[in-house]
Amino acid sequence: MKLSGWGRCPVVEAQVLAPDTLAVMRRDVADSDAFIARGLGRSYGDSALAPVVLSALRLDRLLAFDDETGELECEAGVSLDTLLKVFVPKGWFLPVTPGTSFVSVGGAVASDVHGKNHHGAGSFSAHVLGLKMLLGNGEVLDCDRTSHADLFRATCGGMGLTGIILAVRLRLQRIASAWMRTTTLKANNLDDALDLFEARRDATYSVAWIDCLARGRALGRSLLMLGEHDAKGELADTADHIRSVPVDFPAGLLNRYSVAAFNTLYYHRQLRREVDGRSHFRPYFYPLDGIRDWNRLYGKPGFLQYQCVLPAQSGREGMKLLLETIAQAGEGSFLAVLKIFGPGNDNPLSFPMAGPTLALDFRNTPKVRELLERLDAIVLDHGGRLYLTKDARMSAATFKRGYPRWEEMAQVRTRHHAERIASLQSRRLEIP
Ligand SMILES: Cc1cc2nc3c(=O)[nH]c(=O)nc-3n(C[C@H](O)[C@H](O)[C@H](O)COP(=O)(O)OP(=O)(O)OC[C@H]3O[C@@H](n4cnc5c(N)ncnc54)[C@H](O)[C@@H]3O)c2cc1C
Repeated sequence: MKLSGWGRCPVVEAQVLAPDTLAVMRRDVADSDAFIARGLGRSYGDSALAPVVLSALRLDRLLAFDDETGELECEAGVSLDTLLKVFVPKGWFLPVTPGTSFVSVGGAVASDVHGKNHHGAGSFSAHVLGLKMLLGNGEVLDCDRTSHADLFRATCGGMGLTGIILAVRLRLQRIASAWMRTTTLKANNLDDALDLFEARRDATYSVAWIDCLARGRALGRSLLMLGEHDAKGELADTADHIRSVPVDFPAGLLNRYSVAAFNTLYYHRQLRREVDGRSHFRPYFYPLDGIRDWNRLYGKPGFLQYQCVLPAQSGREGMKLLLETIAQAGEGSFLAVLKIFGPGNDNPLSFPMAGPTLALDFRNTPKVRELLERLDAIVLDHGGRLYLTKDARMSAATFKRGYPRWEEMAQVRTRHHAERIASLQSRRLEIP
């Protein structure tokens, strides 16, 4: 079948196998020349694409739960959405969640995803206690921070390149309510936004929507959104009313004028400097989950996500340069998001490091690709890197400079029989 990531480029022909038991998964692994695991396909680029794709989605059982400690064991194909439906009414929440709930637990581990609480909670793997893996030679191995720790660390953030994650043990966090207390702060420019992040570092969740087309003194103007789990309110999950985008939109619909108009309206929707509010956790964490197939808004050519992180020391200057370059090019995005990460971890390919991170989406055009090359150079010059799960285009050289521990990953792959495990991305990035 034709298959792509969430950005809908590239699109390739792939054989997709969806084994429902370990025995069948093992047979499929033995029979395939080159394969990669796949969850819900929410990575944007080509990290879950290969000639043979092994879907983990039918490995979808909840295996054990301790309601004293919040320790959960589940198969890798379970979605975060399912976990929320089951556990929020019981007073438990994900310790870390990305901006969509339509992500598998295996995918969350493989990308070592981060959420709005990275500065306090770290990334997803910080809450993972252990993994059950199927290796390329058919062996099933349990790994954690003490047993086969090299495999554990390389798998968290390892983009499926060490083996197939079969099951995950993780710890959920307690909540008293399904509701969030929110505060939205208006920042006049990038310096103001970064200072506000700093001043409000005690907030559990923080993220800023940024107008990436604003220039001059308004460069980086943003709305900083803070959140706390509310102590009051019921624990009920909502029944979602999911609308869908029925057709591919004309590719030109999202252009500099429509994006500029949207950004201006959005920024000025709040007049006061600070506004408090309350929101159910669903719209707070997953604003786009209510619109199924929103990725079709970019039309047939698809779109490119770009997420970079810069180290704290050079972050302010580097972010200014990135935003100036984007605003000058006039290629804005609706979904420009800024966040300050806390410290990184010890996984060789995990993305976060302490410093600001910027995520944007762009139309997939030759002009944008040329712009992104220029952004790559700025990111590398400032000691930063790009997020693998969003990437469809970076060069092997850019990858290796951004992830200097890539060779460790290659060694773990050799030790654990991963020769036949490869994605289009891992080949492009020349990961041996
Ligand atoms: C709207 C939206 C918002 C997002 N927001 C965030 C965010 O805030 N923070 C963030 O960090 N990410 C974010 N993401 C990215 C998303 O969280 C990751 O791409 C995640 O990995 C997707 O999981 P998936 O199940 O769809 O995996 P897929 O896209 O299917 O696969 C992603 C990678 O995981 C590997 N993989 C999947 N399952 C397994 C398995 N069982 N065993 C081994 N490897 C496996 C694949 O090989 C591939 O390399 C967002 C994505 C979208 C579409």
